[in-house]
Amino acid sequence: MTDLDAVVVGAGPNGLAAAVTLAAAGLSVHVVEGASTAGGGCRTEQLTLPGFSHDVCSTIHPLAVASPFFRQFDLPAHGVKLRYPEIAFAQPLDDGTAAAAYQCLSRTVDELGAGGPSWRRLMQPLVDRAEAIVPAALAPLRSVPAEPVRAARFLPHALRSAAAVAARLEGGRARALFSGVAAHAMLPLDRSPTGGFGAVLALLAHAVGWPAVEGGSQRITDALVDQLRAHGGTIETRRWVTSLSELPTARVALLDIAPQQLLDIAGGSLPAAFARALRSYRYGPGVCKLDWALSGPVPWTAAACRRSGTVHLGGTFEEVAGSEAEVAAGRHPESPYTLVVQAGVVDPTRAPSGRQGVWAYCHVPAGSTVDMTERIERQIERFAPGFRDLILARSVLTAADEHARHPNYIGGDINVGAATVRQTLFRPTVRWNNYRTPMKGVYLCSSATPPGGGVHGMCGYNAARSALRREFGIRAR
Ligand SMILES: Cc1cc2nc3c(=O)[nH]c(=O)nc-3n(C[C@H](O)[C@H](O)[C@H](O)COP(=O)(O)OP(=O)(O)OC[C@H]3O[C@@H](n4cnc5c(N)ncnc54)[C@H](O)[C@@H]3O)c2cc1C
Repeated sequence: MTDLDAVVVGAGPNGLAAAVTLAAAGLSVHVVEGASTAGGGCRTEQLTLPGFSHDVCSTIHPLAVASPFFRQFDLPAHGVKLRYPEIAFAQPLDDGTAAAAYQCLSRTVDELGAGGPSWRRLMQPLVDRAEAIVPAALAPLRSVPAEPVRAARFLPHALRSAAAVAARLEGGRARALFSGVAAHAMLPLDRSPTGGFGAVLALLAHAVGWPAVEGGSQRITDALVDQLRAHGGTIETRRWVTSLSELPTARVALLDIAPQQLLDIAGGSLPAAFARALRSYRYGPGVCKLDWALSGPVPWTAAACRRSGTVHLGGTFEEVAGSEAEVAAGRHPESPYTLVVQAGVVDPTRAPSGRQGVWAYCHVPAGSTVDMTERIERQIERFAPGFRDLILARSVLTAADEHARHPNYIGGDINVGAATVRQTLFRPTVRWNNYRTPMKGVYLCSSATPPGGGVHGMCGYNAARSALRREFGIRAR
């Protein structure tokens, strides 16, 4: 294999998006993946009992639906069936009710009661301009948005903290609902840009929905691999790259890896200043993730939680904020903010009839080896008494296990880098082109580049477009 145009290391959604983009432009492309199957954080396995299909990482795909890369790729045309829960995310409260974000904004507003009008004031202007805001949020900072004036409507929220956004929401229910979605940022809620993070995810709930893929997220990966092969690309698994010198000769190399790995595998070839900048890149907290095989759906007290794909646990804004602050201080919360995903609400194919596979994680300090099973299950029991009686089997991964299985998730950080303001705007270092490295023909394309974590393929797509333009003089559509 000496005549390759491009080699891609890592077959996560970003590596595959890069490979498909390069191959579609007519280049010869080879992908090297260390794990036994392609997909990285977009895979489905039988983690518990026969008949159960569990997503190893991602399940909920608003970012894929909104992503310009996947829009062009056209997932449904490749046989990927998206299933939309009526409610994108819900947050149960101790009074037995829940605040819920329906895809329908008006229904969300109606059911939020006193806080409804303030939720509309926050979300309606964003929803009206979603077609301009979402592509701008997923593009590299240096690119000019297609509709700059409409996209600019998001700017006042972009750098706010969740606490600042919540201060404009009225009533505990609306504030609680916002805390659960903003806490995906994995930062204390009084820090910027947790408000922007929450606002984008809530906007996606109303603008495109929060779907799951029928049969599991693996179907997205399978579609990408099929398309790569259709364009003549090749992929090899079970080959961990430990040095750039091991790679087949190619004009460009695109790396779907964390900055820490780049330091390891590039050895002394990195210029000292760039290596120093990579060393100062900050990673966020980790997650402890549980998957359960259940004998039936989770018995949530609040009816809305039974119709929601994602359920955020922690009760009030203050409690969720307290939990995130504890993690940032290096502690394991007794009553952790917990994110529960139940694809079975819309996809019965993932479990034997009447049963359900559910996963949940909570945030923990980076590299934690603490098993949070007891605390996570207690948190679910609080809002769904009887949950424990349904457990047939469980799989547990501490943050340290996450890192061991997924080399990009340093210390269990699933976003591959803390979502601080600086690292949201410039990842992994402050450079005009965040995908290019100072090494000739070597590009980074993992979620340590803009726009960061999630299954949107945009890091790979943006990196591939940059490589096509600079190294091959090709302007990809
Ligand atoms: C528990 C969990 C839940 C999540 N839920 C969601 C969700 O619901 N929705 C969502 O949008 N996102 C979710 N995410 C995040 C999402 O999975 C990731 O952001 C996404 O997979 C990142 O894609 P990537 O291609 O950058 O990296 P990855 O998916 O991590 O892929 C990197 C690939 O590179 C390979 N690799 C790394 N180093 C080497 C090497 N040296 N040699 C060879 N191969 C290598 C890895 O094996 C892996 O296959 C979740 C993540 C986790 C862990």
